[in-house]
Amino acid sequence: MNKHDSEAVLGLLMEHGYELTENRDDADVFLLNTCSVRKHAEDKVYSLLGELRELKKDKPDLVVGVMGCMAQKDKNKIFKRSSNVDFVCGTHNFHKIPKIIKTVIEQKTKINLTDMDKQVFVSPTLSSRENKNSAWVSIMRGCDNFCSYCIVPYVRGREVSRPSKDIIREVRELAHAGYKEITLLGQNVNSYGKGLNENVDFSDLLELVHKIGGIELIHFITSHPKDISLKLIDTVANLEKVSRYLHFSLQSGSDKILRLMNRGYNLSHYMEIVNRLRERMPDVKLGTDIIVGFPGEKEEDFNQTYLAMKDIEFAQVYMFKYSPREGTAAFKLADDVPQQVKKERLSKIIHLQKSISQKKRK
Ligand code: SF4
Repeated sequence: MNKHDSEAVLGLLMEHGYELTENRDDADVFLLNTCSVRKHAEDKVYSLLGELRELKKDKPDLVVGVMGCMAQKDKNKIFKRSSNVDFVCGTHNFHKIPKIIKTVIEQKTKINLTDMDKQVFVSPTLSSRENKNSAWVSIMRGCDNFCSYCIVPYVRGREVSRPSKDIIREVRELAHAGYKEITLLGQNVNSYGKGLNENVDFSDLLELVHKIGGIELIHFITSHPKDISLKLIDTVANLEKVSRYLHFSLQSGSDKILRLMNRGYNLSHYMEIVNRLRERMPDVKLGTDIIVGFPGEKEEDFNQTYLAMKDIEFAQVYMFKYSPREGTAAFKLADDVPQQVKKERLSKIIHLQKSISQKKRK
């Protein structure tokens, strides 16, 4: 999603006469797109802002902006920690960035735009897309799920689906420009359609996109297990251009931890989806995300995660140690799994997944 947003804002800026440079010293504007999912990502932004402070000493007119989830979350705190920042732009105001930069330059003022009144869909332009064969297409933004560890609903706002005609128009343009592969993007694509003035769900959208000539491969990400319907599984199985790789986060194999995470499913429900997918598409590959060391995770909870991964044999797994995020429900829980234990658990599942991946690649 962040890569998509970077390309979208780059497109807007190119339309206003800006060019992308790979060379720091050539840049007149620095725009940092940020992530708040883990603390590590935020620390990297503050460290880069520190480097830019030096650059700005030699080039006082340099404009430095911070956009995205961390901008939304930290707002004025960013100005306090990094006095060289000229503007902060939250997740609902990307479309205003060219105007913000103009105002900063003309009025030598600092701007903080982090209201969340309206989700606006901005798409990358053909020239701002980095990949010339495969394109991201945003179909919904925000999230209503409030998983207890996750900052996304607070920084990206509530879920809003994009009208299907706008999505179809964009995919047609991409096909016309020679794109063969698209990825439909959203925090939870399976609940697409909520709140729209048309009767369309994600399966219907897949059918519509599938009809567009020229597109040969359709991916979608991310899926929430509680919203993967039998209809969706059948639709994916019936549409030959839809990728046979499905990514849907398990997060933990322990029902107790899943409840604490407010995930809305248990392991047996997850397994039903896995089995159904494999029945309908024997060649399907599955991907997931796992968090270890969530508050309250005992050895037996971790073992259930380990065994679930061993049993399911995912093709790809993104694995993380739990990182408390201020403002989330889980932040109020005691972060009671020692760092060393988190590290050991993470390394155990990384090791397990390596052997599964090797076996699968053979
Ligand atoms: S589904 Fe849960 S983890 Fe995913 S973005 Fe929404 S709140 Fe975060």
